[in-house]
Amino acid sequence: MDLILRNASLPDGRRGIDIGIDQGRIVALQTQLAASAAQEFDVAGDLVSPPFVDAHFHMDATLSYGLPRVNQSGTLLEGIALWGELKPQLTQDALIERALHYCDWAVARGLLAIRTHVDVCDDRLLAVEALLEVKRRVASYLDMQLVAFPQDGLLRSKNAMSNLQRALQMGVDVVGCIPHFERTMQDGAESVRLLCELAADQGLMVDMHCDESDDPHSRHIETLAYHSQRLGLSGRVAGSHLTSMHSMDNYYVSKLLPLMRESGVAAIANPLINITLQGRHDSYPKRRGMTRVPELLAAGVPVAFGHDCVLDPWYSLGSGDMLEVAHMGLHVAQMTGQEAMRTCFAMVTEQPAQILGLQGYGLSPGCHADLVWLDASDAVEAIRLRAARRMVLRRGHIVSQMPATRAQLHLPGRPDSASFRLPANS
Ligand SMILES: [Zn+2]
Repeated sequence: MDLILRNASLPDGRRGIDIGIDQGRIVALQTQLAASAAQEFDVAGDLVSPPFVDAHFHMDATLSYGLPRVNQSGTLLEGIALWGELKPQLTQDALIERALHYCDWAVARGLLAIRTHVDVCDDRLLAVEALLEVKRRVASYLDMQLVAFPQDGLLRSKNAMSNLQRALQMGVDVVGCIPHFERTMQDGAESVRLLCELAADQGLMVDMHCDESDDPHSRHIETLAYHSQRLGLSGRVAGSHLTSMHSMDNYYVSKLLPLMRESGVAAIANPLINITLQGRHDSYPKRRGMTRVPELLAAGVPVAFGHDCVLDPWYSLGSGDMLEVAHMGLHVAQMTGQEAMRTCFAMVTEQPAQILGLQGYGLSPGCHADLVWLDASDAVEAIRLRAARRMVLRRGHIVSQMPATRAQLHLPGRPDSASFRLPANS
């Protein structure tokens, strides 16, 4: 065997597990594994998890905060306008450099798979070329999935449809959309129909920015579920954001949720961004704006939490830490029960892996040896502390290491010294 992690706790609660790795795969997962390996690590009861997965990100915009200026209103719409100002100034080299820098942050955080939207409303398709290049360069340590995203509206923006089709031909994986940004509700619904049919024809997955609005009448998710069901796209479609659902009438939602379940549409909430951008037109009470996560889960709809933005026109913070995302999601959704908190951990690991269709992901023999050793004893403590990622393995190779984050106290008048884990803040 190449490597063994001994005495691990797993996200499902199993303890004292030894994980044997050979040739990039998990080959054993049991207590007291009677084998030896070239490299062995005693993780001393710490949590070992499959890697974090971000189901919703914008890598073409990341780390551009302040270029050319800062979003003053804090709204989605000013962010889109600001991105429009920045777009003509983008160069491929700068895009690649920023994206690669972000991927370094991601790996150090144990985030080894990212679905990123890429804007196709620039006729040069500069960002598409840049992110395809980044995808090639990081492939040995990070999985990237690209979504062709018509940021300025499929029908509202000139050439958006032909640009989107060119992007797919160039190798972009997933069909995106933004129906709530079209000129009318009807155009929004039409854009959903056109792109679902395109995805069905080409055998592609769909991930739409859908109803990222506080308007309770923004109901494009209904249209998305309808076409997903009609075209047999179950399991291949995700609705991202779905924030209008927060403000919808309860009776309408009670009809909508079973339709989503029936159609096989997944939901991706982006708690850091939703709590920041939504409710900006409210005085008080001020809506949170995040979609109805516990209700979607209870209805049997797969749900993931995405990061969405880091240091860009829409969000001034972020660090590629999916535990920060889960931490915010847990608070905003009020998912504070023990089982609910473990579910929040799954919504940044297993759930997005399933939505992205990642092959060989997980903690069973035969899966890729992609693992994260956390400075925490279980999934709940990992979220509470945004725990340090002690070690990150990709295909059995160590790609990142970090010391434990501990406080050692030396207090006057206290002969006993105390030591405890602290949040990772690096
Ligand atoms: Zn987004």
